[in-house]
Amino acid sequence: QMEWDTGYMCRALEGLPVIKGNRIRVALLGPHAVSFNVTGTFPGKVVLIHSDTIIEIENPGRPQEVTDRITYQDIGGLHTEIQRIREMIELPLVYPEIFERVGIHPPNGVLLYGPPGTGKTLIARAVASETDAHFIAVNGPEIIHKFYGESEAKLRSVFEQAAGMTPSIIFIDEIDAIAPKRSEVSGEVEKRVVGQLLALMDGLKKRRHVVVIGATNIPDSIDPALRRPGRFDREISINVPNKEGREEILKVHTKNMPLAKDVDLARIAEITHGFVGADLEALCREAGMTAVREIMPEKKFCKTIPDGKLRVLEVRMEHFTCAME
Ligand code: ATP
Repeated sequence: QMEWDTGYMCRALEGLPVIKGNRIRVALLGPHAVSFNVTGTFPGKVVLIHSDTIIEIENPGRPQEVTDRITYQDIGGLHTEIQRIREMIELPLVYPEIFERVGIHPPNGVLLYGPPGTGKTLIARAVASETDAHFIAVNGPEIIHKFYGESEAKLRSVFEQAAGMTPSIIFIDEIDAIAPKRSEVSGEVEKRVVGQLLALMDGLKKRRHVVVIGATNIPDSIDPALRRPGRFDREISINVPNKEGREEILKVHTKNMPLAKDVDLARIAEITHGFVGADLEALCREAGMTAVREIMPEKKFCKTIPDGKLRVLEVRMEHFTCAME
């Protein structure tokens, strides 16, 4: 039986702003989590969960094994970026009637750009799971096939699949590979694929509930026709995190680690200038591995690990320092 009660929930959710309709996930020990829908708050607006907040749980669900469900809580930093994404993608997907009422077309495409490892894919996955939308991820270079017409057919099938399972999000990673500037490429395949992508994006105008998110490290190499209104007309830059962002990312990646009291995440954030999310994740993993190596010093693997050794296993500040090296 999983141990969880409202006191545990309050501690896990402290500082989280919620509003009716949100879906929140509480991580339990081990690879389990339990999800809740916020059915109401008092006062009836956005509330901030505090240590004194009273939480009532109706019909508690069963803890689920966490597979790859990613929520906004798994993203460190990037608050403004997430806010903008939520306005542009989540709002139109969840409440299309608001846009109809104002008489405007919600965006069909959003381009995320920024250096590798800053969390572009992570954000797209979080939006999909938070909106319960069907998520189709495609990798730009994988679309390109050498046989005539095959690349376009692949792209068409992705859009068809998305249209059949609305609400849906098509995530095209490394979109620069399939939409390079037509004036600068010599390959016929690339030119045809860009043309097909433009046509499919235009076709989306008639459809609601399908949003395309493109991600790239080199936005300037994308065909300008794709960045016109009605296509990828919104762009969000995902930047390298600052000190506060780095600390939040470290918190995300150490949340399931038995951290020793001496671990100072703020200090680690201070000395990791220039690290992106993927680097910080690697740093945490390496620190964890260093701690593991310590309890297995003889370089030989025994079948069972003495219970005592497991219980004292901690990740200390020196493991992080060592990992940095
Ligand atoms: P690329 O341009 O190479 O595709 P990307 O920007 O899409 O990179 P992701 O794939 O989202 O980067 O990030 C790689 C990994 O780094 C993620 O799985 C995640 O674990 C970690 N990561 C990156 N940014 C963050 C963040 N802001 N918060 C928490 N983890 C992060």
